[in-house]
Amino acid sequence: MGKILVIGCGGVASVAIQKCAQNAGVFDEICIASRTVEKCDALKVKLEEKGTKAKITTEKVDADNTEELIVLIKKVNPKVVLNLALPYQDLTIMDACLACGVDYVDTANYEAEDTEDPKWRAIYEERCKKEGFTAYFDYSWQWKYRDSYKNAGLTAILGSGFDPGVTSVFSAYALKHYFDEIHYIDILDCNGGDHGYPFATNFNPEINLREVSANGSYWENGKWVETKPMEIKREYHFAGVGKKDMYLLHHEEIESLAQNIPGVKRIRFFMTFGESYLTHMKCLENVGMLSTAPIVYEGREIVPIQFLKALLPDPASLGPRTVGKTNIGCIFTGIKDGKEKSVYIYNVCDHQECFKEVESQAISYTTGVPAMIGAMMVMEGIWKKPGVFNVEEFDPDPFMEALNKWGLPWEVEENPVLVD
Ligand code: NDP
Repeated sequence: MGKILVIGCGGVASVAIQKCAQNAGVFDEICIASRTVEKCDALKVKLEEKGTKAKITTEKVDADNTEELIVLIKKVNPKVVLNLALPYQDLTIMDACLACGVDYVDTANYEAEDTEDPKWRAIYEERCKKEGFTAYFDYSWQWKYRDSYKNAGLTAILGSGFDPGVTSVFSAYALKHYFDEIHYIDILDCNGGDHGYPFATNFNPEINLREVSANGSYWENGKWVETKPMEIKREYHFAGVGKKDMYLLHHEEIESLAQNIPGVKRIRFFMTFGESYLTHMKCLENVGMLSTAPIVYEGREIVPIQFLKALLPDPASLGPRTVGKTNIGCIFTGIKDGKEKSVYIYNVCDHQECFKEVESQAISYTTGVPAMIGAMMVMEGIWKKPGVFNVEEFDPDPFMEALNKWGLPWEVEENPVLVD
């Protein structure tokens, strides 16, 4: 039993915090700290009305400011910090945890907020040349903390959401129980939900749109192969959802799985998108609305994508309107006892069921539940070793068990239809 400090109080955090509150045997005190403290206070009231046994406190913090974070962490004195703010804050929060001697968990790897910053850009361009993929986010920034966390005897767990997160744990589980060697991994992320808006994003629009409008890429034979955005399209029939178009994207877990699944020959990531979403996104991109570079408008600096975020529906508000299911999982092909085999591990999650339980749609739910589980693994000392790790580097079994218990049951299908 111990105290957790959750930073951020958006769509994902609100699910993770409710799940922590349901799990008060592990998280007996929860401090919710974010930029807009009113959101934290409102969630505290809701949790108390629901009768949680956990003690809830709230704090205001600017997570871009390491000093402010250090003061907060020292005051709260938690056993673990769960970072559910934005990827822009990963490094400041990791620095503060290190300074305070507290374990760290997050769900998304570091991304620079200002991609025009020349100092960041020089490192980025070097990495593009060296690694061969152009995504703005990568693990190198956080893997740099491996020695400092190790020397401090602290654990940092990176990417404990669904993808990355559950998909990475599925990979470790498949390797442990179904294969001697995994050769091919296809990660399939299908959202069959309908919110009724012509255009809205299911999680933070800035992060989501940047991810989707970027070049795709996959890992093959020891190197990255980059594609144009949405260049590779496939169709797949998803259990619980039906037939959907899906597109190959670059995705962060490919980078760590390529290092942590020995002998893997190819890793691809596909996400489903409807026509309306893609047409709107292309149009917004063409007129410059996805840009992160500030422009001056009527004497005031504005960042186009942040302005767009203010216009779009708040992802947290999609819950009541979204119907349908998600299906996210991985198809593995490899060798067991000298024979080739394929296994598909996936979870199906119903938007309305999530809403009934925590007043949120399935995208936040499928990320918030594993975020709580990752924090629980650290809090209980089950996943505890000094250093910085991705989730597939730990024993998957306790996490897989917890997924079944906490709302994300999974299926294993042998000999599934493969993606060509
Ligand atoms: P939201 O935008 O809904 O929430 C972000 C929260 O962080 C908000 O409460 C926001 O405050 C707060 N925040 C932002 N900047 C600061 C700051 N400087 N200081 C303090 N608080 C800050 O995002 P989501 O909940 O959709 O996403 C949260 C995280 O989860 C992201 O990192 C995202 O990439 C990740 N994610 C991971 C997935 C996975 O499967 N691994 C899937 C989906 C998301 P305010 O309320 O004031 O805006």
